[in-house]
Amino acid sequence: MQKREKSFGIQMLSVQPDTKPKGCAGCNRKIKDRYLLKALDKYWHEDCLKCACCDCRLGEVGSTLYTKANLILCRRDYLRLFGVTGNCAACSKLIPAFEMVMRAKDNVYHLDCFACQLCNQRFCVGDKFFLKNNMILCQTDYEEGLMKEGYAPQVR
Ligand SMILES: [Zn+2]
Ligand SMILES: [Zn+2]
Ligand SMILES: [Zn+2]
Ligand SMILES: [Zn+2]
Repeated sequence: MQKREKSFGIQMLSVQPDTKPKGCAGCNRKIKDRYLLKALDKYWHEDCLKCACCDCRLGEVGSTLYTKANLILCRRDYLRLFGVTGNCAACSKLIPAFEMVMRAKDNVYHLDCFACQLCNQRFCVGDKFFLKNNMILCQTDYEEGLMKEGYAPQVR
């Protein structure tokens, strides 16, 4: 999951034009500059390859751009707009993409939020946890809850 981050970015290359001037994919005019940018198999003026959101010149920001839904974006805006994993089921705040998360069924949690919601016990990999009414519970609290409801399974 984390490793996928790299493949989202598209490399920009700063190249020197050969004898035949290339058309800019941004403004459709010929590129007569000393350098031009090559990205997405197209050529661009350095001024024309801009983030659709913040208008920053992508060639200055770095060598990677991001695209989604026909938008060309800088990394910051891409992450802001699309780089979200979901809302943490415990604190309901957004979880940025590429952050480590815990998952339980359809829920995602911040690592820090993934704890028993009654006693705050943290879980390690392999620990048993239970999901009840969308609350994470440790085994003790889960069984106690069942007991109170009067249908505790007669195990152990
Ligand atoms: Zn242009
Ligand atoms: Zn931007
Ligand atoms: Zn959280
Ligand atoms: Zn607990």
